[in-house]
Amino acid sequence: MRYLATFDAPTSPLTLITAGTIHTVDEATPSAQALLTENGRILAVGPLAEVEAAAAGRPLTRLEYPDATVVPGFVDPHAHPLMYGQMLTWVNVGPEQAPSIPDMIGLLREGMAQLPAGVPVRGYGYEQRNLAEQRHPTRQELDQVATDREVYVMNASGHGGVVNSYTLQKYGITRETPNPEGGEFFRDASGELTGELSDAACNVLTGLHGVKIGHHGPNFHLGDEAAEHQRQLDLVQAEFLRGGVTAIGDAQVSRREFSAYLAMADRGALQLRVSMYFLSHLLDQVIELGLTGPFGNPHLAAAGIKLYADGTLGGWTAYFPEGYVGDPCRHGQLYHEPREYTELVSRAHAAGLQTATHAQSPWAIRMVVDALEQALAEHPDADARHRVEHCGLPDPEEITRMAALGIRPVNQTQHYYNWGEGVEQAIGTPGERFNPLGEFLAAGLPITLSSDAPVAQPRPLEALQAAVTRVTRRGHRLGPDTLRIPAQDALRAHTLEGAISLGREDEFGSLTVGKRADFVVLGADPLAVPGPQIASIPVLQTWIDGTLKHAADTTPAAPTDTQEHTHA
Ligand SMILES: [Zn+2]
Repeated sequence: MRYLATFDAPTSPLTLITAGTIHTVDEATPSAQALLTENGRILAVGPLAEVEAAAAGRPLTRLEYPDATVVPGFVDPHAHPLMYGQMLTWVNVGPEQAPSIPDMIGLLREGMAQLPAGVPVRGYGYEQRNLAEQRHPTRQELDQVATDREVYVMNASGHGGVVNSYTLQKYGITRETPNPEGGEFFRDASGELTGELSDAACNVLTGLHGVKIGHHGPNFHLGDEAAEHQRQLDLVQAEFLRGGVTAIGDAQVSRREFSAYLAMADRGALQLRVSMYFLSHLLDQVIELGLTGPFGNPHLAAAGIKLYADGTLGGWTAYFPEGYVGDPCRHGQLYHEPREYTELVSRAHAAGLQTATHAQSPWAIRMVVDALEQALAEHPDADARHRVEHCGLPDPEEITRMAALGIRPVNQTQHYYNWGEGVEQAIGTPGERFNPLGEFLAAGLPITLSSDAPVAQPRPLEALQAAVTRVTRRGHRLGPDTLRIPAQDALRAHTLEGAISLGREDEFGSLTVGKRADFVVLGADPLAVPGPQIASIPVLQTWIDGTLKHAADTTPAAPTDTQEHTHA
């Protein structure tokens, strides 16, 4: 056994950074001319003369970005890195690659040709509404790919998909198999399995010794070789850094994720800051271990518990008891009966754990707020920071209650950027309110943005643009202007508020003296360009602990590194 000193205090030289614009996201000094960093920390920030004085004549490195803008490292408090990594290595059956089911089958066949015999064929990224057929593929169609090994295409939402007949046979699923609590094996009019499965039904896919999560959420914890998981995490980390993200929250950790992060740290390869939310099927173990306070190191830390209230709007499994406008026979589902959910939340809260619950529909969000209200009444805590993930369609009444109770919504504006039209198709006009950030702002509710990668790419500038414009990728304006927020609030939502949501604002989230030197160099100022141009601003460089972690391939404004003195 050996122990690597992976998390020694970072060393970085005394460095003075100047830029055309520096947004600190710190209300005390919102803009600055210069930043001084050393050994991974921010020593000074402010007017150039002041910051130079703070260096006290010591030898330093100067980095000058006269045409660029420096902002804090983006914080993405809700993402699924390992799932994202698998998606990057699975067959891409997204709408551009596979506009129809025959195209999807062709791509899966091509993918299979690259794989050894018997290895499952997996694809990711289709949206049934975006397929020419406007429906999910069937197991019979996937049988055209293979009948001697597993074939699985996961829906873009990650909450389910379709398998071939071989997979159903292998795991003993027949037309007589009842639906598990919190999930469904879909059937046709004659009761025959279609191959589509959702949410808790996905437990069958992880195999005999795989991660089992009961009805605590969608099971995407499919196994790969340990070395393959490391390759996937390396790919994903590079994508986050490319987007300017320096810290993330993993919003669904099972032993699969935890062991993959430990192995990554053991290789000395973990550069992002990761806060882990253990899935609620582990609540008893987490409480039993006493893992209920801040624990970890700057790169890997325990944060809280992730729960699920309902399903996804993309897959039409979010809970609408009166049925979907697009398909009145579909109602979606709750993962837990309200009593069971309330009990889970109360236990987590009483133990001192922060909770983060996935909830999309007004009914699901109300159940979460009801439960948290009760838990907070039993054990008052003015700074519990419980989170509602996605929080797509809260009723105005719940927005007021969340503000009063200190419950934080964690939104993903890229979801409506990518498929906002689909929400209106699914539930009608109320869908235009999806992610009502402007209403949150008016109610005094803090706004936090994230990607939910791989559901959306970790591109914070795209999330900022969507928050500011509410215009989708296809050019559709979603809802009235009152739902939009100013660029300044959007920037804060993807930096400081992300850090607050993770309970780590003392460490990062703004360019403040004493915090970690995590920052991003942008090709233009997101607060100055017109809203529709924010997403196309290039991320030139990403720095963590005062060390360059990513530089764009073509860096027009490469730093003028005018080292004034040599140091040993
Ligand atoms: Zn998620």
